[in-house]
Amino acid sequence: MSRPNSTTQASKSLIPNPPPNLRSPNQSPIPNPQSPMYEPVIGLEIHAQLLTGSKIFCGCSTTFGAPPNTNVCPVCLGLPGALPVLNRRAVELAIRAAHALGCTVHETSIFARKNYFYPDLPKGYQISQYQQPLATGGVLEYQAEGRAFHVGILRVHLEEDAGKSLHEGFPDSDRRTYLDYNRSGIPLIEIVTQPDLESASQAGEFFSRLRAILVAIGVNDGNMEEGSLRCDANVSVRPGGAAEYGTKTEVKNLNSFRHVQRALEFEIERQTAVLREGGRVTQETRLWDAAGGRTVSMRSKEEAHDYRYFPEPDLPPLRIQPGWIAGIREAMPELPDAQRRRFVDQYALPDYDAGVLTQTPALAAYFEATAAAAGNAKSASNWVMGELTRKMNETGLEVSGIPITPGALADLIRLIDSGTITGPIAKDVFEKMWASGRAPAEIVAAEGLARIDDDSAVETAVRDVIAAHADAVAQYRAGKKQTFGFLVGQVIKSTKGRANPALVNTIMRRILDSAP
Ligand SMILES: [Zn+2]
Repeated sequence: MSRPNSTTQASKSLIPNPPPNLRSPNQSPIPNPQSPMYEPVIGLEIHAQLLTGSKIFCGCSTTFGAPPNTNVCPVCLGLPGALPVLNRRAVELAIRAAHALGCTVHETSIFARKNYFYPDLPKGYQISQYQQPLATGGVLEYQAEGRAFHVGILRVHLEEDAGKSLHEGFPDSDRRTYLDYNRSGIPLIEIVTQPDLESASQAGEFFSRLRAILVAIGVNDGNMEEGSLRCDANVSVRPGGAAEYGTKTEVKNLNSFRHVQRALEFEIERQTAVLREGGRVTQETRLWDAAGGRTVSMRSKEEAHDYRYFPEPDLPPLRIQPGWIAGIREAMPELPDAQRRRFVDQYALPDYDAGVLTQTPALAAYFEATAAAAGNAKSASNWVMGELTRKMNETGLEVSGIPITPGALADLIRLIDSGTITGPIAKDVFEKMWASGRAPAEIVAAEGLARIDDDSAVETAVRDVIAAHADAVAQYRAGKKQTFGFLVGQVIKSTKGRANPALVNTIMRRILDSAP
């Protein structure tokens, strides 16, 4: 089932959660000589909303945040006699995702009815794909934790989302549930992995990689707060080295990397404790209770739905021309992992820089444009990862809203590289560029910020400092050499950061080391 979490998430930020690889690894159970070590086996089911303008089987808008029940029609409300018509764009985006995950896209797939009753599902069934999904048999490969991962992709299929039940927030919420059908019929893909993940941190890392790919190829907006990317996890534990899987539980509603990791850590520990005490794990669906930091039982296998799948009679089999599948493959944008490797090769950047710069396609494009115009990739990387990211976080702006163009940032880098301005002045100029949108050369000229390279001007500044700090000069000459840095600092300060530091060093040393 694809029912998402109906509770809203906390504050929104540019990067929803720290990448899992920056957090502490999953803790291993403490070895106990009396009982075997248990190892977890994890597979994920991810539901991703496709970035279409209209719903999967009708023309209603998919815009998030519209007033309740305004993006609805007879089809997505499930009124009698209304017939679905498949959205071609949804199929195209699903094929793109399948290609990115290395799956085989089938020329024929079948829509099926998944029958269950729930108030947010007005038809009494969800249109999904079951026995013949759109795509199967892929793999996602990436480097993490210093080794190669190969996570098998079992299938990628198309389906529609359900509406949303609102259980709280109304004066009579203790007696009533409200329903919003705006989300009913939103196009989704469900991505099912093989049980190839071996720890909570690996699952978090995989989810983060998958999100980056779906965002990079323009299939999904990656917005977990708005529920457009959701994850359910199947997890079991077994004695180390055992060939057979243990009994699994399914944990639902994991809508952040952090929740995936924490819920799996809890569930692995819980199942291990049950087995250690000689008990048996019950096959069941559990919900992640983020506030309580635990999973709670939702329904057991006995209570599980029998979905009574059968082919959807209102939709013919989905037949896709091989030429269309191939055309979509040829038009695929560069995937994040390939882009990251290219940044290391092409720009001679450290892997860390490449990883940060390829987090979003917009940031990667901004960096590439800056590096090309500046002719200095490492400096461009430092400015984008440093000052630019700091200002974006401070102001909450996305890359598209940055008031400094890549060309202008490149101009600033060239002013530093040519020696026109010093490093400290460059930060000041950057702030002024951000605030005013003016060109860096214009700011430097208007405010007299050019570097002072004139020997006599620097010497005057040095002599002024020496005259004003007789004590420090005496200490230096008495052998306390660390005073030198202090005196140089005073010159930089008195010239407001404009004096060429190398020149200040040379002249200061010459004067101090000559006879007083
Ligand atoms: Zn509709």
